[in-house]
Amino acid sequence: MENDTIAAISTPIGEGAIAIVRLSGEEAVSISNKLFSGKDLATVDSHTIHYGKMINTETNEVMEEVMVTVMRAPKTFTREDVVEINCHGGLASVNRLLEHILYHGARLAEPGEFTKRAFLNGRIDLSQAEAVMDLIRAKTDKAMNIALKQLDGKLSKLVQDLRQQLIETVAHVEVNIDYPEYDDVEEMSHQMLKKQTREVYVEVERLLSMAKQGKILREGIATAIIGRPNVGKSSLLNAFVQETKAIVTDIPGTTRDVIEEYVNVRGIPLRLVDTAGIRETEDIVERIGVERSRQALKESDLILLVLNYGEELSDEDRNLFKAVEGLEYIVIVNKTDLEQKLDLEEVKQLAGDQKIITTALIEDKGMDALEEAIADTFFAGDLDSGDLSYVSNVRHIQLLQQTMQALDDAMDAMDAEMPIDLVQIDVTRAWELLGEIIGDTVQDSLIDQLFSQFCLGK
Ligand code: GDP
Ligand code: ZN
Repeated sequence: MENDTIAAISTPIGEGAIAIVRLSGEEAVSISNKLFSGKDLATVDSHTIHYGKMINTETNEVMEEVMVTVMRAPKTFTREDVVEINCHGGLASVNRLLEHILYHGARLAEPGEFTKRAFLNGRIDLSQAEAVMDLIRAKTDKAMNIALKQLDGKLSKLVQDLRQQLIETVAHVEVNIDYPEYDDVEEMSHQMLKKQTREVYVEVERLLSMAKQGKILREGIATAIIGRPNVGKSSLLNAFVQETKAIVTDIPGTTRDVIEEYVNVRGIPLRLVDTAGIRETEDIVERIGVERSRQALKESDLILLVLNYGEELSDEDRNLFKAVEGLEYIVIVNKTDLEQKLDLEEVKQLAGDQKIITTALIEDKGMDALEEAIADTFFAGDLDSGDLSYVSNVRHIQLLQQTMQALDDAMDAMDAEMPIDLVQIDVTRAWELLGEIIGDTVQDSLIDQLFSQFCLGK
């Protein structure tokens, strides 16, 4: 049943202290009205806020002082009647309120069900729905801004434009199929087709590179800190944590990520991973060997390899270099306050093109340079560029890659002077794939799966 009335606790982003019970559906107002004392909610104007008390209908006790917002369809998030009850009490009392609301006829919303309704009722498209999910999970302000822009429909707009271009391309092809006798039309169309397809291809390629950066902002750079015992790995971890300002946490009462695992480096979330116990491993290579540690380390986006300036390079250090060969890593030469024993020339040789940063963590020196190196590695320094607004997720990235492949096939077919209706198949496929990003051509099962990933109350 899609239009029964659903309810859940839903806390606004950035306002952890206030909890909201949200209802959506035909009976949202009448159910709230049964508990509310202060006014007759059935007669109030839409989009108005009312102060009052929520009464326990069995005992007549006051459960909560509340502010109730009444919003009538269709100008609501779900396009259904929506009531939001702002509570000041703790989680326990909000839970009790929710129980009463369920008792009076609402059904507990499934995770993501509010957003799913918004999507099904045509209020938002799929990429916007995913942005809601991103917002809930956003780990830093920058990641949140990007999600907000996507919610705004920026990605949707771009994808729609590209699809429009492809439709026009396909239309040209249709003309050719319908009037094959005009030879010069075919010749001209071939040229134009190629040009248009290439244009879309280049744009998709650009979106894809943005999408990858967006993914990093959303999910964080999976980072492993490795080095011999005593080189300063824990000190490095602490330095990150100390510099970290408030990180947006998940909403109380919903699934919680382990917050200490995220640190904020110039707006980029670093996720200090513990792949096979690698985070802060003294002797990973020693323990499991170069090959296996390589395998485990491959799961990180970034490895911080810490060395001791005050000691000579050891074979253990050299093995670490072998384990990270070909991966993305930054060498940190720590303890530069000590007398130099480390052969920096050898370190440079081993590191090749990778960056080397010197630190004296004990004196708080070097973190700035390190943070800059990290930002530079992933964003070539221009994190603020407005282009980054097309945040994306794994699903978008896969679809964009498939779109590129389809366009590539189309261009190959054109180059090989294949019959034009064969070219059309590939172009149409690209059009369909782009449609999946905004939910135009996705199957129901995918939609169910996507929305079930949401937190409760959204
Ligand atoms: P880990 O074993 O790699 O995690 O190393 P720790 O972070 O626990 O540091 C080992 C020791 O080195 C501690 O006593 C730290 O205070 C010290 N240490 C960390 N950084 C520096 C530094 O820059 N200079 C000096 N002299 N000592 C440091
Ligand atoms: Zn340690």
